[in-house]
Amino acid sequence: MASKKNPQALIREINEICRELDAIRLMEVCGTHTVSLFRSGVRSLLPPNLRLVSGPGCPVCVTAQGYIDAAIDAARLDNVTLCTYGDMLRVPGRSGSLEHLRAEGAAIEVCYSIRDAVRYAGNHPERQIIFLSVGFETTAPAAAHGVLEAAARDLANFTILCGHKLVMPALGALLAGGDIPIDGFLLPGHVSVIIGSDVYAGLVDLHAKCCAVAGFEPLQMLSGILALAKQMKAGTPRVENVYGVAVSPEGNTHALASLDRVFEEADTVWRAMGTIPASGLELKDEYSRFDARKRFALAINEDYDPPGCRCGEVIQGRIDPPDCALFGSECTHEQPVGPCMVSSEGTCAAWYRYGPATAGRRRS
Ligand code: SF4
Repeated sequence: MASKKNPQALIREINEICRELDAIRLMEVCGTHTVSLFRSGVRSLLPPNLRLVSGPGCPVCVTAQGYIDAAIDAARLDNVTLCTYGDMLRVPGRSGSLEHLRAEGAAIEVCYSIRDAVRYAGNHPERQIIFLSVGFETTAPAAAHGVLEAAARDLANFTILCGHKLVMPALGALLAGGDIPIDGFLLPGHVSVIIGSDVYAGLVDLHAKCCAVAGFEPLQMLSGILALAKQMKAGTPRVENVYGVAVSPEGNTHALASLDRVFEEADTVWRAMGTIPASGLELKDEYSRFDARKRFALAINEDYDPPGCRCGEVIQGRIDPPDCALFGSECTHEQPVGPCMVSSEGTCAAWYRYGPATAGRRRS
């Protein structure tokens, strides 16, 4: 349950507990947490020995560069209209970005959901519509429903370029390396609404990490951080759900059933993290006619970071954005080099907009 205390009381208690502890390093997994912690000012109120690092929870940021290049290849196909979330437009690929292509006349539509793309396909039967279907378990159920709707309408001109990813395998892969010091996880509220809080038990049982599932309001984030500090002090890692108003132990079984109907787990390439077994989704055979990779023979080639860009290290909590030599100079929100600066949930974008390193010289 979320704390009924006010923010000041929570901050006071966090500071009191941390005075009795050595340095603590917590990972906020979700990009929305990263931005909310900055924007709300919560980050600046935490004790100096409590360090927050960002994790692989921004969907655009973790999407491997090979997927971006495949999306650009798709947008260049004759008679194809590419439908995408706006955040994907500005991610640089090997040969420019989707935004550049659109400026040159490529048919690229910005959608708010897969349903927009399905509707677009229904209204434009003369064109092939490819939807860039990325995101974690938060957006994947909607993608499943979109595919089911396309199947029900027997749309022959609709496909998805599937890039969905699963949170837990990525956290497991991060910890398996053993070289990233993390004491605990502030776990994502949105994803946990779908997958529930029970799935995180392995982080405690296998890796002895403190865990708290939290929402995105300041009070909720502070409650999560306090829960983690208390676990650290007691030396008793466990999974605490301080977002019980939205997250149940078992998750949203209806949404999980939709996922299971349309998708199956697949080995997937993550930016800088390589191929992680069973960490993504692909369409089941029954729905493979909606797979853009198969219909258009699109290849998702190797992953790479743009020259000089250290997004791969940022999304693993290995460095903070100001540790990248390009941060705030060659790479700004106006002229981004890597996806972590492009995405509204990107760690570099959050540091650039709200962090101390760029205070006084940022424009937005
Ligand atoms: Fe990449 Fe820019 Fe972030 Fe550096 S500051 S890691 S170039 S997005």
